[in-house]
Amino acid sequence: MEWRTVQRNNFTQFKTLFEFLQLTEKHLPHLLQNSPFPLNLPYRLAAKIAKGTLEDPILLQFLPQIKETVNTPGFLADPVGDEPSRTSSKLLHKYHGRALIVCTSACAMNCRYCFRKNFSYETNKSFDAEIEAISEDPTITEVLLSGGDPLSLSNATLKDLIERLSAIPHVQRLRFHTRFPIGIPERIDAPFLHILETSRLQTYFVIHCNHANELDDDIFAALKKIQCLGIPVLNQSVLLKDVNDDVDTLKTLCKTLSDHGVIPYYIHQLDRVQGSAHYEVPEERGRQIVQQLQTLLPGYAVPKYVREIAGEPGKTPLID
Ligand code: SF4
Repeated sequence: MEWRTVQRNNFTQFKTLFEFLQLTEKHLPHLLQNSPFPLNLPYRLAAKIAKGTLEDPILLQFLPQIKETVNTPGFLADPVGDEPSRTSSKLLHKYHGRALIVCTSACAMNCRYCFRKNFSYETNKSFDAEIEAISEDPTITEVLLSGGDPLSLSNATLKDLIERLSAIPHVQRLRFHTRFPIGIPERIDAPFLHILETSRLQTYFVIHCNHANELDDDIFAALKKIQCLGIPVLNQSVLLKDVNDDVDTLKTLCKTLSDHGVIPYYIHQLDRVQGSAHYEVPEERGRQIVQQLQTLLPGYAVPKYVREIAGEPGKTPLID
């Protein structure tokens, strides 16, 4: 099925998802029916959620909870300092040698802990200012396509954008940051693969998955098509309370990814965005978990435990 047709089946109405998950009146006081950050969940992921409970690790990432309305000191609208690094409406330049294009506000799914949930996305669809800024800065050798989710863009828009980036001699590498394949692997279609295959840029494909329950054979088959083009596929996770904050869960995730050639790249300490305090795991607990993973998995299968601190020139490692 064409990916946009699949996406049209996303759950976006609270009542429909509530009934699908066989939740009952007793669950209602814990849930947020009308959130300014809308519910958006692909059918594929919803189908993997255990029925009749609020404790499922996929549900906890996507179903709006009343806890999101709690204001906690230290939790900010822009916890990672995106705004101060914004050099044009869609370009963030935080780290040496790399620039990030916020391609779109749209995602395949809305993660409740998203650090960019308050970002003032540009509605103008032109990338002229970003291409010009990258062209004029020879220190930029890598461009990250992020968002939102860059795979929300049409193949025609992506092709045009990538061709324009490829025409800039000092740009050597392209990186996708996407959660799309986890919810809608149909997005990895033949025209998209052709764009990747014919680009002169060395491409890296970074997905975002937090729990092995999110994964299935269709997803790995789609990722394999990317890997077959010589494009490394890496995963980043966020350490989330009651979702993946235990050794067995993360061991299973890292092992499953590694079994399919996907490198567990980062596990992020939660970015402290407003309304996400209920997801936070203390750093000391995170360190214990990752140190235990180091004793159970080969080095390449243990993600780096990091935190993003606004204004710092790179991610801050939380284990020496
Ligand atoms: S996919 Fe990424 S950008 Fe989109 S809501 Fe989730 S964390 Fe945010």
